[in-house]
Amino acid sequence: MSAPLLEVEDLSVEFDTRTGVARVLESVSFALGRGETLGLVGESGCGKSMTALAIMRLIPNPPGRITAGRVRFEGRDLLALDDASMRAVRGNRVSMIFQEPMTSLNPVFTVGEQIAEAVRLHRGLDRRAAHARAVEMLAAVGIPAPARRVDEYPHQFSGGMRQRVMIAMALACDPGVLIADEPTTALDVTVQAQIFDLISDLRERTGTAVVLITHDMGAIAEMTDRVAVMYAGRIVEEGTVAEVLGAPLHPYTQGLIACAPGRRTAAAGAQLEEIPGTVPSLLERRGGCAFADRCRHAMPACRASLPAETVLDGGRRRVLCWLHASPGEAAA
Ligand code: SF4
Repeated sequence: MSAPLLEVEDLSVEFDTRTGVARVLESVSFALGRGETLGLVGESGCGKSMTALAIMRLIPNPPGRITAGRVRFEGRDLLALDDASMRAVRGNRVSMIFQEPMTSLNPVFTVGEQIAEAVRLHRGLDRRAAHARAVEMLAAVGIPAPARRVDEYPHQFSGGMRQRVMIAMALACDPGVLIADEPTTALDVTVQAQIFDLISDLRERTGTAVVLITHDMGAIAEMTDRVAVMYAGRIVEEGTVAEVLGAPLHPYTQGLIACAPGRRTAAAGAQLEEIPGTVPSLLERRGGCAFADRCRHAMPACRASLPAETVLDGGRRRVLCWLHASPGEAAA
């Protein structure tokens, strides 16, 4: 990979709650190259969406705060920018689409006005040019009759079409990175496939790098080049899709893959495997591996201390598990 476009380094986030401080992200690091797609996968509450919000500097403060780390994009640390400089990046060079477009689209403005506003703000286009760009983007995401529909309101679009509008808005300023947070969860299966095809197609045409946040292993297999598996606020395994899905190293990744619906056997009465136990509370101060209570391979060392990260294949394959630590680290 050439020099990374986006580098997240040791990112940590905490939230104040009534019962204590929840450490929702702990030392999260990954890198993304131009035109690359990285999947962030894990169960609900593992920190996937928090990672996206932290990159966009949208963690509500209070009660949340970024306590450590860097987010380098095009050579600048986004966490060190003043608010005005960050506003110039957000929705322009780094864009995000959310699970439910109705929470992001404003019901009282036409979709054309909302797309045009982004390009006028970030690109300084006049009203006529911004309107033309809105029509062009609606056409690019496959909205039929874009010149007419540009003047319609969000409620006049179906769920799938609204998600296309969100993608049009996110890509209107040619971002370097698009963060897609569960972009198809609210949609039916056929529309899901169309939205994934659309994102892949636009990525190929524009070179936009994509961070795809999902709990869907099928989407990861189809859409992404690399995958980072998150558990209890940490990345526990990262590698290419072929490596991680084909030969998972971390017991949690192995469990996730075993649970994926595509793995269901055709045998009558066959059951999906489940990972036993529940995700630990993020309020607990953990000395060891957060997965230890659910892991069939857990050893005394796993509860005593956090596993050292084992780096393989020149640095782009890594795993956080005592099973894969070098003998020196395991004994330390
Ligand atoms: Fe299981 Fe231990 Fe590895 Fe954690 S460190 S995943 S408990 S083997």
